Amino acid sequence: MLFYMPTKLYYGKDIIFDHKEEIILGEKAIIVTGRNSAKITGALDDVITILNEYNISYIHYNEIGENPTYEMVIKGKNIAIENECDFVIAIGGGSPMDAGKAIAVLAANPELNPDDLFDMNNYDVALPIVTIPTTSGTGSEVTEYAVLTKPNGRKSGFKSNLIFPDVSYLDPRYMAKMNKELTLTTAVDALSHAVEGILSKKATIMSDMLARESISLIHEYLPKSLNDLENLEYREKLAIASSLAGIVIAQTGTILPHSLGYRITIHKGIRHGQATAIFLPFVAEEIDKVAPEKTKILKDIFGSLDNFYSFLKELGVYDFNINFSNEELDLFSQEVLNSSHVINTPGTYDKEKILEFYNNLIK
Ligand code: NAP
Ligand code: ZN
Repeated sequence: MLFYMPTKLYYGKDIIFDHKEEIILGEKAIIVTGRNSAKITGALDDVITILNEYNISYIHYNEIGENPTYEMVIKGKNIAIENECDFVIAIGGGSPMDAGKAIAVLAANPELNPDDLFDMNNYDVALPIVTIPTTSGTGSEVTEYAVLTKPNGRKSGFKSNLIFPDVSYLDPRYMAKMNKELTLTTAVDALSHAVEGILSKKATIMSDMLARESISLIHEYLPKSLNDLENLEYREKLAIASSLAGIVIAQTGTILPHSLGYRITIHKGIRHGQATAIFLPFVAEEIDKVAPEKTKILKDIFGSLDNFYSFLKELGVYDFNINFSNEELDLFSQEVLNSSHVINTPGTYDKEKILEFYNNLIK
């Protein structure tokens, strides 16, 4: 059993100011963000205040969109190289954090292009990385993964210990501006990580402990937070749940629901967390048939797998209409069966079973 999590994770309100010197990991930073969230949450201003205080120069690259593409990270790489940036500060949801990780590797290895990121043997150095999450969902602030959208439209994650952030600051203040929909869809991403972590063949005692706590926190505080969006106590609980779940997948990886969900995000425009969580009860039922011990934590927390499904339903996770053409179903099932997520999912999965998961969504 191995437990590896090298990121220094600070959490708490205003935490960045209590440990501000640790953000200085070089002489010139590239700050990687999306268009708005880093600014409206106040996180960007906090970072710039600290950099100015230490006379550290920076360049701000703010063009990362949802589900970051090769184009976005290549542009970031070029900006970092041209400006001789020697560390990355990524602020935002999973998209800017993952893009920041890709830029950290590409800028330190100018000969590489994004395709090369997927084989960790291609590189042995990356720029140091600071992450500051503004959503509580992906856990990217504590993982060795980054997910990119390839030119063919497929979402794919790469993995390397070099992209575990060096330092991350988890401050619930930065999450308080999320609206109801984003709060829900990101929190159920964290829930998916924790649940997939316990269901995974790679689960360990350590990862199960963290996953149990994460699921319990989301079970208790997500409904409360959705009814009181600016409550910082609830935000803090969800933020911690999200990082705990990130630490879980840093050990176990994700399984079938993530692979099923990637297709729904790219082809049907449903946000990552929601697109993944909708499959959790179906996959859990399947695993329960062959490895009931894997679903025990879920039954302990929710009472039964049916109650787990009801919890998600009552949150509104299934409030959408979706349809698939036969060509889409063919493509999705083939891609899912070829994905690495299947290997760590207990049970046997064939095309018929994958189609059943997708067809469960049609009302
Ligand atoms: P996101 O794609 O980073 O952001 C979604 C939207 O939310 C953007 O419009 C963003 O605005 C906005 N936003 C972010 N923080 C906000 C705030 N505090 N208040 C208001 N709006 C805010 O969303 P995400 O769910 O966090 O990340 C999803 C990505 O992470 C996917 O690509 C997924 O595959 C990946 N992921 C990575 C890991 C990992 O371990 N690395 C794990 C799971 C998922 P801006 O555009 O202005 O920023
Ligand atoms: Zn996820």
